[in-house]
Amino acid sequence: MSESMIWYPYEQMKGMKKPLLVEHAQGVYLYTEEGKLIDSVSSWWSVIFGYHNPVLDEAIKNQVDQFAHVMLGGLTHEPVQRLAKKLKEWLPKDLDYCFFSDSGSVAVEVALKMALQFNTNRGSSRRKTLALEHAYHGDTFKAMEVGDDEDYHFAFGEKKDVIHIPTQKEALEEAFQKYGEELTCFILEPLLQGAGGMRMYELDFLVRARELCDAYDVLLIFDEVATGFGRTGYRFVADQVCPDILILGKALTGGYIGHAVTVANRKVYEGFYSDDPSHALMHGPTFMGNALACSVSLAAIELFEKENYIDKIQKIAAITRREMKDFSDPAISEVRMMGGCVCIEVKDAKTLEGYQEFARKRGVFARPFLKYLYACVPYIIEEGELLQVLDTMKAWFKR
Ligand SMILES: *Cc1c(COP(=O)(O)O)cnc(C)c1O
Repeated sequence: MSESMIWYPYEQMKGMKKPLLVEHAQGVYLYTEEGKLIDSVSSWWSVIFGYHNPVLDEAIKNQVDQFAHVMLGGLTHEPVQRLAKKLKEWLPKDLDYCFFSDSGSVAVEVALKMALQFNTNRGSSRRKTLALEHAYHGDTFKAMEVGDDEDYHFAFGEKKDVIHIPTQKEALEEAFQKYGEELTCFILEPLLQGAGGMRMYELDFLVRARELCDAYDVLLIFDEVATGFGRTGYRFVADQVCPDILILGKALTGGYIGHAVTVANRKVYEGFYSDDPSHALMHGPTFMGNALACSVSLAAIELFEKENYIDKIQKIAAITRREMKDFSDPAISEVRMMGGCVCIEVKDAKTLEGYQEFARKRGVFARPFLKYLYACVPYIIEEGELLQVLDTMKAWFKR
C-alpha cells in the first residue's frame, strides 16, 4: 500500500513513482523538492501565460473580493456577461452563444447533446456521429464514445453510432456518401490531435469537411480544448474554417481554474429557441460561469491580444523548426512540429523509459506518453529556456 490517499490520473497506483512535490511556481518554472524545472508541457497545455502571472493573479484577487461564485440558474453576473460578450467579439462569424461548463470533457458532452437535440427538436431521427481515428475528446462517457484511443479507453466497451475515419479526404467523402443523411455531427480536433499521439493534418481536410457538412446538413464541431489559443500557430483553427460549434477549455483560464465553453452559432441556437419548453437545452453544471474563472479568462484573453501572443508562438515555432530540422535517430519514426508544439515519435515505447528522470536532471519537467515525446511550452518561454527543453529531448537519443 502506498501512503498516499490521492488517486492519481492515468496511473496504476501499485508501484507508481512518487510524484514531484511543487512548492511554488513562477513563469515557466516549477519549484520542486528537486529544484527548479521548466514545465515543458504547460500543465497539460493550459498554463500558456506562465505560472503566477501578475495580471491573472490580480484578476482573481479582485474578483474574490466581490464574490467567488454564484450559480447561473436564475442569476447572472458581470464577469460572465463580459466574458460572453468578449468571446462573441473575438470568435469568428456568428459563434456567439456561450454555454459554460467546468471542464473540457463536459463541454464536449454539451456539444454532442446540442447536436443530438438540435435534430430531435426539428423532428429528425438522425443519430450517428462522425469522428476521427485516434480522436481524444475527454474522459466522460459520451466524450469517450467519440474518442478513438484504445490506450485510454480500452476498459469501457464498445462505441455506439460513432463512425471513425482517418484524416484523408477519400475516407471523408466515402463516409458522407454512406452515412451523410444519418449524421447529427462531425466532431474533430482540428489540425492537431493531441492525446491521440500529436498527429497533424492539413487544412484542406477541414475545408472539405465544412463543404460536406453543409451539403448534408450536418453540424461541424471543433474541439479546440487543446488547439485553441494559438497552439497550432493559428489563434483558433476556427479562424480558418468556421465550425457550427466550437469547444474551448484548457488555456481558457490561463490554466488557473478548470473551465470550458461550448460556443454555438446562430443556427444551432435557433434550433432550441422556441415556444416549446421541451426544446430547451437541459444541462447545467453547478459551477458553470464561475466568477473567478470568468474573470481570469477575460484577463487572459486581454493579455493574449495586448502582448501579441501569436507573435510569441511564431517565434517558438521558428526556433523549434531551426533546432529540430534534420534531427533524426534510428529509434525515431517521425519528428512532427506545428505552432507551439513538437513531438518525437519513437518506434518502440521502451525507448522513452527513463526519460522523465533524465530530463529532470537537466532541469526540465516532461511527461512523455506511449511512443510520444513531446513539448508544448508556455508561450512566455525565453529562447534559452526553449533550447534547454529541445536540447534535452535531442540529448536523450545521443547518450
Ligand atoms: C484535454 C482535452 C479534453 C478534456 O478536457 P478536460 O478539461 O480534461 O475534461 C477534451 N478534448 C481535448 C481535445 C482535450 O485535449
